[in-house]
Amino acid sequence: MRACVTICPTDALTRDPETREVKFDKNACIGCELCIPACPMQAMEVHF
Ligand code: SF4
Repeated sequence: MRACVTICPTDALTRDPETREVKFDKNACIGCELCIPACPMQAMEVHF
């Protein structure tokens, strides 16, 4: 499981079981930014 998916408290980040892509649900995101330091590749950014 991706660290960002695991740490997201609202399930805004999920992993597609077939493509293994991380999907983002903007409506579920609360902007807590926990996913930013969780990513070992600094791939996450939050824009509002
Ligand atoms: S900023 Fe959004 S996507 Fe990132 S952990 Fe928080 S709720 Fe989830």
